[in-house]
Amino acid sequence: MDYEDVEYEDLNGVARIWHNRPQVRNAESQRLLDEIDSAMRCAAEDPSIRVVILGGRGDHFSAGHDLKEAQANRADFTVEQRWAYEELRYYEYALNIFDLPKPTIAQVQGACVAGGFMLANMCDLVVAAEDAFFADPVAHSLGAAAVEVLIHPWVMGMRKAKEMLFTGQRMDAAEALRIGMVNRVVPRAELEDATLALARRIAEAPPFGLKLLKRSLNRGLDIQGLRTALEAHFDTHQLSHLTEGFKQARDRGLSGAIKAGKDTLK
Ligand code: ZN
Repeated sequence: MDYEDVEYEDLNGVARIWHNRPQVRNAESQRLLDEIDSAMRCAAEDPSIRVVILGGRGDHFSAGHDLKEAQANRADFTVEQRWAYEELRYYEYALNIFDLPKPTIAQVQGACVAGGFMLANMCDLVVAAEDAFFADPVAHSLGAAAVEVLIHPWVMGMRKAKEMLFTGQRMDAAEALRIGMVNRVVPRAELEDATLALARRIAEAPPFGLKLLKRSLNRGLDIQGLRTALEAHFDTHQLSHLTEGFKQARDRGLSGAIKAGKDTLK
């Protein structure tokens, strides 16, 4: 497995897949997303792997989709082109993580923002460092209707989700723990070991039973309408890319959005 923007670690029964662009806060480029999807498939198909961890090298989990690359390569996309791009790389890749037939754990430090927040919350469990923070600022920075997968109310409750999305403001790790959005908060220096220890504990259970258990739990969410709600939002999100508010942000060269994103990182 030869990856450039991702690192795949085989830790004897546990796979740890890293966003590996620390120099740009693990901004999710097209290649990085393609490689994460490929690495997830490898982990799913490898019978020796029982649990998968999704992390990020450096100071941040991920600041979200690579907006500079989007501006350079996709600013003039037609509706049809953007739909196809986002349906595959944002929506389907995310749901592939949600549907992975093995338990998954997000290992989060620093920024876990927008597209990064979306991917982390596709994982079954979340272990956060004390310095982790969570935000989806794109209603403010881009005039967009959140990110492509509106997982927010399902992981933090409707009231908090509306606050996060309407204000664009951060939630810190302590608050995320208090409301049950993350499972554990640990000192930054202990994040990797604590996440791996949790993965190893889960990996002690026979894998087929875990697969069936995850299937049942996720089906419980589907019965409550999760997938239908996510699909409906994807369509609405596409509409939000065509609004005057979004066009103005795009015509400012997205530099304003990138700067607003950086402000969120401060
Ligand atoms: Zn989008």
